[in-house]
Amino acid sequence: EQQKLKRLKLTKAVTLDGTSIELHANIEVPEDVSHARAAGATGIGLYRTEFLFMNRREMPGEEEQFSAYRSVAEAMKDLPVTIRTLDLGADKEMNPDTARTCTNPALGLRAIRLCLSEPAIFLTQLRAILRASHYGKIKILIPMLSSITELRQTLALIERAKQSLDAEKAHYDKDIQVGGMIEIPAAALCAEAFARELDFLSIGTNDLIQYSLAIDRTDDTVSHLYNPLHPAVLQLVEMTIRAGNKLGKPVSVCGEMAGEAKLARLLLGFGLRQFSMHPSQILTVKRQILQSDLPLITPVARKILGTQDIDRVEPLLQKLNLQ
Ligand code: PEP
Ligand code: MG
Repeated sequence: EQQKLKRLKLTKAVTLDGTSIELHANIEVPEDVSHARAAGATGIGLYRTEFLFMNRREMPGEEEQFSAYRSVAEAMKDLPVTIRTLDLGADKEMNPDTARTCTNPALGLRAIRLCLSEPAIFLTQLRAILRASHYGKIKILIPMLSSITELRQTLALIERAKQSLDAEKAHYDKDIQVGGMIEIPAAALCAEAFARELDFLSIGTNDLIQYSLAIDRTDDTVSHLYNPLHPAVLQLVEMTIRAGNKLGKPVSVCGEMAGEAKLARLLLGFGLRQFSMHPSQILTVKRQILQSDLPLITPVARKILGTQDIDRVEPLLQKLNLQ
């Protein structure tokens, strides 16, 4: 079974009707690149940079960050590397011993909110990412956006980082793409506005589920309620994919949902053409894609999208996976 899967490594991910699908890898540290390549990933869809900042007292400086980002870009050669800017806070504290206590960390000053309130930290990271973009095909991904105002403030800081590099005549990719994570329901509902101002979208279902169902993703006592198949979650995911497709901006899913083989057809049926997941799941999802026929699955996916009854979803999904 493992051998059979391994043979799929070099097979292109194409559906039965001939639609090409991108299967990217999520990584946390530069060493993960070898797993991504071994699984045949056609890019890094999510590089969670906060792992460079966690479990230490001092923030990594620009040089340390630059060298980590550059090594990933070089290792992936001409394949895309999507670097997510700092997503610190809540489930990803820098130093749990000294973390500020607040009542609702998941709703607090975290991720892009933290970066916008500490522009010096953010600019250091942006400069490091931009400088690394000279050595490969890097894209910037912004986590936890909730409003277009935050997006504009972020884009202004990226501009400032570029100008500071221009002043030093430093090399970077002047056409670097900037995308946004859609992982707050408010952003999913306004996905078209985000798609208009960004180059691509990436749906973070881990947080999207947490925030739409009001379930703390780190709290075991409510984990039985954490359900990616809740009709509200499915509607938000589909709405985001539709917005990106309408405006011709690529959309990816980089939350755990993307790595679940039994959800691949549903996401394909919603119009998703790019998945990013833990490297260990890529071949299983690829096998599912190779056996999927879009004209057959799309009407069933529509039917699933049409129901508000959570108990109807699972039987319909089984039907979809038997197609
Ligand atoms: C997500 O929220 O789905 C996601 C991909 O980001 P993280 O799990 O790092 O919050
Ligand atoms: Mg997230």
